[in-house]
Amino acid sequence: MKVIALTPRGYCHGVVSAIQTLKTVASDPTIKKPIHVLGMVVHNQKIVDDFTALGVISINDAKASRLELIDTISHGTVVITAHGVSDDVIAQARHNNLEVIDTTCRDVKRSQDTVKYYLSMGYDVIFIGKKSHPESETVLQYSSAVHLVDSVAMVDKLTLNNPLVALTNQTTMSVFDVQDIGEKVRHKYPHVEVIEALCDATKTRQLAVMHQDKDTDHCFVVGDKRSHNANKLVEVSNSHGVSASLIQSIEDIHLPSLKHHTKVSVTSGASTPTALTKEVIEFLSQFNKDDPKTHHQVSQVKDQNLFL
Ligand code: SF4
Repeated sequence: MKVIALTPRGYCHGVVSAIQTLKTVASDPTIKKPIHVLGMVVHNQKIVDDFTALGVISINDAKASRLELIDTISHGTVVITAHGVSDDVIAQARHNNLEVIDTTCRDVKRSQDTVKYYLSMGYDVIFIGKKSHPESETVLQYSSAVHLVDSVAMVDKLTLNNPLVALTNQTTMSVFDVQDIGEKVRHKYPHVEVIEALCDATKTRQLAVMHQDKDTDHCFVVGDKRSHNANKLVEVSNSHGVSASLIQSIEDIHLPSLKHHTKVSVTSGASTPTALTKEVIEFLSQFNKDDPKTHHQVSQVKDQNLFL
């Protein structure tokens, strides 16, 4: 099987930094225990499970905000994930005598600072983001003057009378969604100030998928189902001529379909451990539809500790 390994792929700087910080604090005897992570440290269940094995507690509840979750922690340390939180959450954690370790990615921080700046200048801020994603949740907590949209139809429903309007976005949205929704906003509010906030890791991975060879039979995106940027890579590939699927390891590859392919590509989300992606590339490279010995599809790495 011919395999094109798209680049860049694998961990982004924000994920590397969050994982390294959590590894360090988990083994630091001077840090108050237990250590809690507010949400998933990165959107990859394997990484979360590996930290759980080290005694780190992930506080997750899709129905509760991060501000509500803070009050469920009685003592110890709380780690803020790369996705960031509002200042209210940090203040509440300190009020509850929790030690706070903040691993917010610098790109997320820049996006959130942009929203705060425009709010402080009296603007209404239209934020292109996914409902219930931590980045969206954070900026919505800043003010009722932040308006979340994730489609052109949602822009139609906006009724803003403020002459000051700014438009920005979640760091991991699709380049194409940001363009399409942005065009609609500019049409409706010609005076809008646009501050594009996609991170480089998201943009470069999406552009590599968009520009891959169009004679590729299928694109495998290795990533967790909850990874927003991995799901966006699938969408981008599907909408640019190459069918794609999200897989978590070689065990998710659909062999009957693979037998009809001669050339495939592989990429991964920004929070996917390299070992999982490497194993997928190796499996596909040695795959021969006529040789059952190459069809053995049991991952040797998915149960290992894969921090970095
Ligand atoms: S995907 Fe982008 S914004 Fe998110 S952690 Fe990585 S670099 Fe930061």
